[in-house]
Amino acid sequence: MSNPVRSLNFIEHIVEEDLAKGMPGKQLRFRFPPEPNGYLHIGHASSICLNFGLGLRYNAPVNLRFDDTNPIKEEQEFVDAIKKDVEWLGYTWETECYASDYFQQLYDWALFLIKSGKAYVDSQTSEEMARQKGTPTEAGTESPYRNRSIEENLTLFEGMKNGDFEEGTHVLRAKIDMASSNMLMRDPIMYRILHKAHHRTNTDWCIYPMYDWTHGESDYIEQVSHSLCTLEFAPHRELYDWFLDQLVDSDRLRPKQREFARRNLSHTVVSKRKLLKLVEDGVVSGWDDPRMPTISGLRRRGYTPESIRNFADTIGIAKRENIVDVSLLEFHIREHLNKIAPRVMAVLRPVKIVITNYPEGEEEWLETENNPEDPEAGVRKVPFSRELYIESDDFREEANRRFFRLKLGGEVRLKSAYIIKAEHCIKDDKGEVTEIHCTYDPKSRSGSGTEESMRKVKGTLHWVSVSHALPAEIRLYDRLFTDENPDGYKDRDFMEFLNRDSLEIVTGQLEPSLVSAEPGDRFQFQRLGYFCVDADSSSEKLVLNRTVTLRDTWAKIEQKKE
Ligand code: ATP
Ligand code: MG
Repeated sequence: MSNPVRSLNFIEHIVEEDLAKGMPGKQLRFRFPPEPNGYLHIGHASSICLNFGLGLRYNAPVNLRFDDTNPIKEEQEFVDAIKKDVEWLGYTWETECYASDYFQQLYDWALFLIKSGKAYVDSQTSEEMARQKGTPTEAGTESPYRNRSIEENLTLFEGMKNGDFEEGTHVLRAKIDMASSNMLMRDPIMYRILHKAHHRTNTDWCIYPMYDWTHGESDYIEQVSHSLCTLEFAPHRELYDWFLDQLVDSDRLRPKQREFARRNLSHTVVSKRKLLKLVEDGVVSGWDDPRMPTISGLRRRGYTPESIRNFADTIGIAKRENIVDVSLLEFHIREHLNKIAPRVMAVLRPVKIVITNYPEGEEEWLETENNPEDPEAGVRKVPFSRELYIESDDFREEANRRFFRLKLGGEVRLKSAYIIKAEHCIKDDKGEVTEIHCTYDPKSRSGSGTEESMRKVKGTLHWVSVSHALPAEIRLYDRLFTDENPDGYKDRDFMEFLNRDSLEIVTGQLEPSLVSAEPGDRFQFQRLGYFCVDADSSSEKLVLNRTVTLRDTWAKIEQKKE
């Protein structure tokens, strides 16, 4: 699954160096550590592919670790969704772990730190503590509670654990250095009181450990060799190491934290908090709305796991943050679907043509290839008759010589069928064309071997027989945000850049072979793009999502602007 020929990334170089220095290969172990406070997004896919990719490359176990230390935001629904997404991406974890399983061990270690004089209970308000923090250039002030006796600390901490105190009255802090140049080392909070039920430990605990006091210790418990996180945690590394310094036994593996850059995708936001806002405000239909950059949204949209893995593999990992253009993600899904998606004919904005010299009541089933890219995909038959739908865009009464579609007096080939000529059109009172009358050349049928069947005309159009057509709701998606980096403005909220036209719904007409299409099935609608049957689809009503157009239309629009 990982690409064996590409050169090593910088994290793999770190692993290689450790191995070269004598670390036994069997000690390698990785983890992917999501907080179950939302659904996974495309940024997480990079981290998943990195960690599980390392597991595959070095034949090492990878844990799925839920970093569930904040009961206010975490839910079982998110745990379930995350497991489903990681599995769907094609990865298998060694052990399903929860930071909450370590609450007792963490508590015991906290007692150990108190007894060693390395932690104390602070009874100030959070405002008071914030005032004492200092600034990056000015030392902080020590808390008046910093030198409490070990006994008093133990009594208070036990009281915190037993639920004797209100939220916000006490915290446990590590006693490090209020003058450290790293603000995170200025007596960081290890525990806070939260009288909230946890989705796994319920009301067993009313004190909850902070991220910094949980993450490295969980890595240590699981014996993770390389704990990979995103760059914003680089300043936390000193604290990660300080906590481990207090605890690590020399005969057990000591985990190391290393950082890589967060991946951002253009024209969207990759932050669970912001995606949650879109869900809560009803901007989208849910976490799996096909416009969302979540794994579940991309799946519903029609993305394949392969395309997401190839995307993550192509962008690789970096030491500096940047924005990856969404067209690269689209390139990967096009590339994959081009290989695997059966071709079918569907008309999204239909106009009717009548072939006046085709016998009334007659029909023919014409053979056509399922996928020219895949000879094994075979052939199928599509019905042809006197009345057909074509795309209204494909007809103009008059047009210049560069318009290779249908115009009055002009000829086109109907895909896998005949050459037709437009004779005249009928319009309604608003001047809209309602019907185009054509004639066809009966000898021109594709593949019939006649001279006429080889005749070259400039345009080829897709079509669907009116009497056989299946109507379907087609959801056409566009980018969720108009700005490339909606999150990138100090003075403007990302919500200001919402694209109000990100969803258009049309009633299309599909060839009848789609009658048996099931949710999740993917197709190429010829000349239009790739489409996927939505979960909302039923036997009464077909619903399809456009995954991606055949070509990058935005690139063209951007070029025109320049
Ligand atoms: P969010 O802000 O979306 O909630 P997070 O970092 O808080 O992101 P976690 O659930 O804590 O989300 O992330 C799990 C793992 O995925 C972490 O190791 C994190 O560093 C990594 N990760 C999260 N977002 C990205 C991203 N955009 N690119 C690469 N890795 C990411
Ligand atoms: Mg987080």
